[in-house]
Amino acid sequence: MSSKPVTTKIKEDGLRYRSKVGGSPFVGNGNTRSCFKCGKHRTPDQLQPKRVLGRTEMVCKPSCKDLEQS
Ligand SMILES: [Zn+2]
Repeated sequence: MSSKPVTTKIKEDGLRYRSKVGGSPFVGNGNTRSCFKCGKHRTPDQLQPKRVLGRTEMVCKPSCKDLEQS
Protein backbone atom coordinates (compact mmCIF):
# COMPACT_ATOMS: atom_id res chain seq x y z
CA MET A 1 0.00 0.00 0.00
CA SER A 2 1.88 3.00 -1.26
CA SER A 3 0.61 6.51 -1.59
CA LYS A 4 0.30 7.77 -5.10
CA PRO A 5 3.08 10.20 -5.94
CA VAL A 6 2.04 13.56 -7.29
CA THR A 7 3.34 13.93 -10.78
CA THR A 8 5.17 17.18 -11.02
CA LYS A 9 6.43 18.63 -14.24
CA ILE A 10 9.34 20.99 -14.13
CA LYS A 11 9.68 23.47 -16.93
CA GLU A 12 12.93 24.99 -18.07
CA ASP A 13 12.18 28.20 -16.20
CA GLY A 14 12.11 26.32 -12.95
CA LEU A 15 8.44 26.78 -12.25
CA ARG A 16 6.69 23.67 -11.15
CA TYR A 17 3.34 22.60 -12.39
CA ARG A 18 1.23 19.90 -10.94
CA SER A 19 -0.31 17.74 -13.56
CA LYS A 20 -3.79 18.30 -12.30
CA VAL A 21 -5.20 20.19 -15.24
CA GLY A 22 -8.05 18.46 -16.95
CA GLY A 23 -9.60 19.28 -20.25
CA SER A 24 -8.25 21.53 -22.91
CA PRO A 25 -4.90 23.27 -22.54
CA PHE A 26 -4.69 26.97 -22.03
CA VAL A 27 -4.33 29.19 -25.03
CA GLY A 28 -4.06 32.92 -25.38
CA ASN A 29 -2.65 35.26 -22.78
CA GLY A 30 -3.04 32.88 -19.89
CA ASN A 31 -5.83 34.92 -18.36
CA THR A 32 -8.58 32.83 -19.80
CA ARG A 33 -10.18 29.65 -18.63
CA SER A 34 -12.10 27.26 -20.75
CA CYS A 35 -15.79 26.84 -20.14
CA PHE A 36 -16.68 23.45 -18.73
CA LYS A 37 -19.71 23.14 -20.96
CA CYS A 38 -18.72 24.53 -24.35
CA GLY A 39 -14.94 24.51 -24.02
CA LYS A 40 -14.56 28.08 -25.25
CA HIS A 41 -11.97 30.22 -23.53
CA ARG A 42 -13.37 33.08 -21.51
CA THR A 43 -12.03 35.81 -19.35
CA PRO A 44 -12.81 35.57 -15.61
CA ASP A 45 -15.63 38.13 -15.81
CA GLN A 46 -17.32 35.98 -18.43
CA LEU A 47 -17.32 32.94 -16.20
CA GLN A 48 -19.30 31.77 -13.24
CA PRO A 49 -18.74 28.79 -10.99
CA LYS A 50 -21.16 25.95 -11.32
CA ARG A 51 -21.42 22.82 -9.25
CA VAL A 52 -21.09 19.78 -11.46
CA LEU A 53 -20.99 16.31 -9.98
CA GLY A 54 -19.75 17.64 -6.66
CA ARG A 55 -17.03 19.72 -8.24
CA THR A 56 -16.97 23.40 -9.03
CA GLU A 57 -16.50 24.05 -12.70
CA MET A 58 -16.37 27.33 -14.56
CA VAL A 59 -19.02 27.95 -17.17
CA CYS A 60 -19.99 30.92 -19.32
CA LYS A 61 -21.92 33.78 -17.72
CA PRO A 62 -24.78 34.29 -18.08
CA SER A 63 -24.78 31.26 -20.34
CA CYS A 64 -22.91 29.70 -23.22
CA LYS A 65 -25.63 30.73 -25.66
CA ASP A 66 -25.68 34.33 -24.57
CA LEU A 67 -21.95 34.72 -25.09
CA GLU A 68 -22.21 32.95 -28.40
CA GLN A 69 -24.63 35.55 -29.70
CA SER A 70 -22.78 38.60 -28.44
ZN1 LIG B 1 -19.68 27.94 -22.28
